[in-house]
Amino acid sequence: MDDDLAGTLALTRRRLLVGSAVLAAGWAAGCGSGDSGAEPTTTTGAAPDLNGDPFTLGVASGDPLTDAVVIWTRLAPEPLALDGLGGMPDRPVEVSWEVATDPDFTDIAFDGTASAEPAYAHSVHVDVTGLQAGTEYHYRFRVGAATSPAGRTRTLPDGSPDRFGLAVVNCQWYETGSYAAYRHLQDEDVDLVLHLGDYIYEFAGTGEGERSTLPTNDVTTLSDYRLRYASYKLDADLSAAHARLPFMLTWDDHEVANNYMGDQLPGDASAGAGQTRKAVAYQAWWEHLPVRVGPPQGSELVVYQHVDLGDLARLYLLDERQYSDVPPCRGSDTAEGDFGDCAERSAERTRLGPDQEDWFAEAIASSTATWDLVGNPVVLGGIDGGNDADGPAYYLDTWDGFPTARGRLIDELAKADNPVVLTGDYHAGMVIDVHQRPFDAGSPLVAPEFMAPPISSPLFAADITERTPQVQQQLNGHGYLTVDVERERLTVAFRVLDDVSDPDSAIQTAATYEVVAGSPKAASR
Ligand code: FE
Ligand code: CA
Repeated sequence: MDDDLAGTLALTRRRLLVGSAVLAAGWAAGCGSGDSGAEPTTTTGAAPDLNGDPFTLGVASGDPLTDAVVIWTRLAPEPLALDGLGGMPDRPVEVSWEVATDPDFTDIAFDGTASAEPAYAHSVHVDVTGLQAGTEYHYRFRVGAATSPAGRTRTLPDGSPDRFGLAVVNCQWYETGSYAAYRHLQDEDVDLVLHLGDYIYEFAGTGEGERSTLPTNDVTTLSDYRLRYASYKLDADLSAAHARLPFMLTWDDHEVANNYMGDQLPGDASAGAGQTRKAVAYQAWWEHLPVRVGPPQGSELVVYQHVDLGDLARLYLLDERQYSDVPPCRGSDTAEGDFGDCAERSAERTRLGPDQEDWFAEAIASSTATWDLVGNPVVLGGIDGGNDADGPAYYLDTWDGFPTARGRLIDELAKADNPVVLTGDYHAGMVIDVHQRPFDAGSPLVAPEFMAPPISSPLFAADITERTPQVQQQLNGHGYLTVDVERERLTVAFRVLDDVSDPDSAIQTAATYEVVAGSPKAASR
């Protein structure tokens, strides 16, 4: 067993206790102090002797519910300290927090304290409860004399909202482009940001140039992952987007390792290597993001979930890596990039794992919402990247490598009134008609699928529309989707940067599609 895993496992029991304490602090404060009249926060205990501003990594909020939201920060006066510990002392530090109804913090609705623990890189997750539905709040943290930047957040609506605004983002390789998209995202009229994964990339940082990250080796240890998240979170546009809007996040492969599946790391099939890597990667993911789940237990963390936006929509986030079988054909000459075709492609294998598959089937069957919006990290509707000479070739770590499991998922979608699939991973924008049998245009149309362009990762611009008739449009650009959910229609805008290499780049609406309730066809507008 390697030292990192031993350390991680040793910490697991403590982590449970600390996590509970932090969440309980939020819960108690929320229930105890009521809507108004709470005492202003005073910091208790000695002011910590920190070597600089502890709030360099900003603040964030996430996983909003109708009456709760998670607020996050991580103390790191030296965020790029090579040990990944942020320049923090090896002891717990008390952090006070406030949630106000106004941006000037004159009306403090809730406050409390949380303990930032060295075992979790001094991250803080407070689940603030007792909030009003569909309401904007403002929050901040304090340590000693230092006050964090203020964040804004919003709870989910209840009842029958007329409208809900979503943004869909993914694939933000830091070295390969600016985060200009995150600058523009702050100005969008959206209530929530869905992140479909590849929040970090684990490749060795270049160590040179304006957009380089640490560490300069491949990211494999807990220290490495912490340092990589810190590198990303120092970006002013990403930090500001988190401070401006609540996020809900799932992950794809690069939060752990390129093309990992289940417990298998491509390039390292040694026993336990995948679990060891997942344990540290999942822990660092949890430490740096505003999520309600966690901390992880060893190499396990349940991140799939659904929430309701009143009766307007039920919103699902899927995990398509943690429980997955290994894709077909891997180990053959197509293992590079998992691209190709082989007889075993059609064999039974799981993508979601049985528990998640059951959960999804029950959740969508019980939904009474107008729309069912499924955050699905990798493309569902099928892409054939082959050519006439060599025949079809599929990206086998997408659903194309899991056709039997895909068939079951599509069957569940078909039971919903208005299913819509929101996808990432592929490094292009796309509009795809999801047929009951992908590539069979004669089979019933089940749902529209909208693939969000990458924030900054390299484009995958090869034209696949020739052999993939279900793709209505392919857009090669960087940016994000906005999804305007209304009772009668859903409107998706592909927001695309002029030039991802320019942090000051303008953004345009490259395409707009509309889905009318009652029809599974996306129509260009
Ligand atoms: Fe990616
Ligand atoms: Ca990916």
